[in-house]
Amino acid sequence: MTVEILPLGGLGEVGKNMTAIGFDGEYVLVDMGIRLDSILGFEDIDISGMGRRELINMNCIPNDTLILDREVLAIVLSHGHLDHIGAVGKLAHAYDAPIYGTPFTVELAKQIVREERTFEVGNEFKTAMPGDAIDVGDIRLEFIGATHSILQTALVLVQGSDSSVLCASDFKFDDEPLLGYTTDYDRLKRLAKDGLCAALVGAVRVDEPGPTPSEAHARDMLREVMTEATSNSGAIFATTFSSHITRIKSIVDISFDIGRTPVLLGRSLHTYCKIASKLGLVDFPPELHIHGRPNAVHNLLREIDGSRDDYVLLVTGHQGEPTSLLTRIADGELPLKIRSGDEVIFSASTIPNPINESNRELLETKLRAQGARVRKDIHVSGHAGKRDVVEFIEMINPEHLVPCHCTLDKLKIMAGVGRELGFSDRQLHILQNGECLRLSG
Ligand SMILES: [Zn+2]
Repeated sequence: MTVEILPLGGLGEVGKNMTAIGFDGEYVLVDMGIRLDSILGFEDIDISGMGRRELINMNCIPNDTLILDREVLAIVLSHGHLDHIGAVGKLAHAYDAPIYGTPFTVELAKQIVREERTFEVGNEFKTAMPGDAIDVGDIRLEFIGATHSILQTALVLVQGSDSSVLCASDFKFDDEPLLGYTTDYDRLKRLAKDGLCAALVGAVRVDEPGPTPSEAHARDMLREVMTEATSNSGAIFATTFSSHITRIKSIVDISFDIGRTPVLLGRSLHTYCKIASKLGLVDFPPELHIHGRPNAVHNLLREIDGSRDDYVLLVTGHQGEPTSLLTRIADGELPLKIRSGDEVIFSASTIPNPINESNRELLETKLRAQGARVRKDIHVSGHAGKRDVVEFIEMINPEHLVPCHCTLDKLKIMAGVGRELGFSDRQLHILQNGECLRLSG
């Protein structure tokens, strides 16, 4: 049996993840992401009206040309982050294949398809949960539950008749994830017993020693800073990833505990929170204000301005995005302004690229200039550090290791980790986008 691993995006870069896995000429596509920093490089861009070739040339979506004429049986989405599902609206229609994901991932992908204006995406969506086996042609797919910074994340096991490949780009080990499931250690250990031909393992945090702290640690840090902040008479602003429902829930819960009313404002916060609530993944109190529409946001900001010390305002803008609510509040464009004594909590790391870094710095400068106290990095990562990666590789014990999901420097660090664990050069593969690895299973 010939096993093929063909990365189409996500290697040598952070973003636009997509990999084709093939067994004897039949393929499945794992993930279809966008590259956010490429999109941010173009001001006020709306990709919904843009075509495939244009976006490939702008380096925003994977170049899937090499796989277009092959027999693709399924598109499998590992989780709902945009660097894994954001290109579904642009690429999926070219394949006569259903799209599989966990319920949260599928709902988020459907939202992307609804907003797509250039292509008619008619692929059937199918949901599966960790542990379910899905047969497509002669290939069996299995989702393996994993903890990450978005709910219902899965590692994707692609099995041919006598060999299998694990796609494990985004995961962490966290025995206290607060919401959702822990990474399925038992299933991973069984992979080693059954024999795993190859594993793609995410390298994005492999340069950090690890172990990556638990989400419970992020909640403890938030509790400390929010409790301290409430003794001031100003407003408390908090901002985090809109897709990070667990973190949002912690901020909401702590707000009530410190005697303040949380309000969630911004279009993306509204989208993610509503979908998670609808699916029963999170239990927000029914009276919680979650507003996405500009009018509703304006009205609420005007209403609470007089009693701002009663509230925690969870708003978009953790990367300093120019059109986000926090930036617009800092620019004085909205009914509620920054005042001396306000506290602004960034419960997020800055995604390392020059645009984000300068946007964040500019926003922080504006906030401080108006008298706000800025608290940064009240955050833990959703990705495995080196110690977790070592434990993971030892747990699954693949024959071949393919570092993925990062820039070349970190792919090399991951290969170094493999070498430390006894992998030979024959077993370690640093690939580039478009470079096919053929193995005999
Ligand atoms: Zn992710």
